[in-house]
Amino acid sequence: MKFTVLGSGSTGNSVLICTEKTKVLVDVGLSAKETLRRLALVDVDFADLDAVLVTHEHSDHASGLRVLLNTVRCPVYMSGETCEAYLREKLNKTNNEPQKRSDALKNRIEQIESSKDFCIGDVDFEPFSVPHDAADNFGFVAKNKGVKITTIMDFGCFTTLIKEKLRGCDAIIIESNHSRDMLKACPIYSWELKQRILSRTGHLSNEDLSEWLTNDFDSAARHIVLAHLSQRANEPHLARLTAQTALQMRAPLFKAETNITISYHREPTEWIQF
Ligand SMILES: [Zn+2]
Ligand SMILES: [Zn+2]
Repeated sequence: MKFTVLGSGSTGNSVLICTEKTKVLVDVGLSAKETLRRLALVDVDFADLDAVLVTHEHSDHASGLRVLLNTVRCPVYMSGETCEAYLREKLNKTNNEPQKRSDALKNRIEQIESSKDFCIGDVDFEPFSVPHDAADNFGFVAKNKGVKITTIMDFGCFTTLIKEKLRGCDAIIIESNHSRDMLKACPIYSWELKQRILSRTGHLSNEDLSEWLTNDFDSAARHIVLAHLSQRANEPHLARLTAQTALQMRAPLFKAETNITISYHREPTEWIQF
């Protein structure tokens, strides 16, 4: 199994998970055109996609979906609640977008549940709910031939369930959204938006991630990819340094041999393969 983060940040998120037989695009937060360009960059033919999996309806995860469905022919895996929310997302109704979305998804949906296992081709998915202000957001463990890759973005805090799901993984793609200080000092975001991001159903900070890395991470994962970095309230170097420092703070007996990779909104990461 291998994966690449095609793009990640406040403006759009998309991850590609592949085995020899199965290719799953997770979220379409970039435009359809850009998604197709990035698939080509990582040498994957869009016609070979087996599924698009949508974690939640927020535009930075689903805005490219409708147009992409004109080009790709595979089904869309989505929960019922997310689908409903996607169809009534804060949209400009004058251009009839809700109807267009509904038409595009007709006969294309494979309905999943955010806490019930499902499979796509030879990949087993174990989804789990996360605290976020969307209808039904979930993280998931993707499993193939004993390898476990976990993806978790857009969550405000670690829960017991999340900590448990992050055990025994080979790779983890995880949100490191903002530096708390940078967010508080950010002159562009309103007070309300800052409160939303900082809340327990908002986004995970570098500091929250750091605390988990030092105290709860089981050190199984060889790769951790930091994702969903805010372009206004984070700095890639700072996010990496905070995570690496957190790993070094671990008790000597529990040192982790883990590579930290940063994902960017402008370009795909290298493939990480098992
Ligand atoms: Zn997001
Ligand atoms: Zn979100």
